[in-house]
Amino acid sequence: MKKTIRDVNWEGKSAVMRCDFNVPLKDGAITDDTRIRAALPTINYLIDHGAKTVIMSHLGRPKGKANPEMSLAPVAARLSEYLGKEVKFVPSDVVVDADVKKAASELASGEVMLIENVRFREEEEKNDPDFAGELSELGDVFVQEAFGTSHRAHASTTGIASFIPAVSGFLIEKELKFLGNAVDNPERPFAAIMGGAKVKDKIPVITNLLDKVDILIIGGGMAYTFFKSMGYSIGKSLLDEEGLGLAGDILKLAKEKGVEFLLPVDVVCADEFANDSPHDVYKVDSIPEDRMGLDIGPETIALYKEALSRAKTIVWNGPMGVFEMENFAVGTKAIAECLAESDATTVIGGGDSAAAVTQFGLEDKMTHISTGGGASLEFLEGRELPGIAIIEDK
Ligand code: ADP
Ligand code: MG
Repeated sequence: MKKTIRDVNWEGKSAVMRCDFNVPLKDGAITDDTRIRAALPTINYLIDHGAKTVIMSHLGRPKGKANPEMSLAPVAARLSEYLGKEVKFVPSDVVVDADVKKAASELASGEVMLIENVRFREEEEKNDPDFAGELSELGDVFVQEAFGTSHRAHASTTGIASFIPAVSGFLIEKELKFLGNAVDNPERPFAAIMGGAKVKDKIPVITNLLDKVDILIIGGGMAYTFFKSMGYSIGKSLLDEEGLGLAGDILKLAKEKGVEFLLPVDVVCADEFANDSPHDVYKVDSIPEDRMGLDIGPETIALYKEALSRAKTIVWNGPMGVFEMENFAVGTKAIAECLAESDATTVIGGGDSAAAVTQFGLEDKMTHISTGGGASLEFLEGRELPGIAIIEDK
């Protein structure tokens, strides 16, 4: 178990907290503040327990140079509104300077300040120890709350913990509880659904999960690479040449490990990669040469629903089809609805899968939607994330 903010007596202490406030901006205005709202419970806990809180984050890719378009100033304003109290923003092109240090040292209990985009310094992504040291001087305890960057060893996500003790905030605690427990201590049967575009990207995840799951379900573009490796013709469907040999290995491994490995039995194929392209359902052994598979078919949906109805834990990574196009979103939507209605613990990992669930308005029906696309994938691969490893154990 990792220490959380509940394990610290905050009275008179200051927190340096790494948040993920990498919010989308348009003409200087925030277009989606989900990430700001997500951090409120942790910030409010710190305020209520008498901490002084210094928050840091990255925003966009300023490539190590100060860039006013990627300033965190709008975030400080929005955060002030939500907290109902002023969040002091101390701008600095070098992120930490004498003024920033002074402001941090003058904070009173329950006060909050935000420093400038840590990626204004090129030392951030290099995990430079001097910069990490500068950040650590702003407080007594490091609070890790940015799951989306926890797979990167940067000064503000990892390096800082060489100087001061590290604990997690509530967002990280939740990720570890649901994503971590699902993978390491699942209630069985444990089913994983893997979809999306490329086999190659997800091979390490599938390989790791084959050791843990009872049922592995494949959908999306990656299915066609499996079909090809089984000798089927796949027409103009997505083929991951590099992943071809690996797909064959996975099929063998699944058999050896006795995992129930399910591939689509029918697919929806279209003439073109376009929503209005004519399309029909085909059995997977009769995909026409001149068409491409863009979704799973109705028999496959029924097969997958039956398998999922037996599961007690379900992890889903990667959509079942090109869900961005309405005509090819049917399979992804059916699976999302199946999870929404399921009594199993349902965990969504992966940026596009999370986007699909949100698009269908089902986000409240899932047990947990991971906030970190790349980070959740690495987690499912069984890798230790550097930004998590540095959090102290209880
Ligand atoms: P995640 O972000 O959830 O990990 P990926 O990034 O791996 O998912 O894959 C998502 C993409 O896969 C989507 O943009 C979707 O359109 C695409 N995709 C799904 N099925 C197909 C298909 N049959 N052909 C081409 N692309 C597909
Ligand atoms: Mg993606």
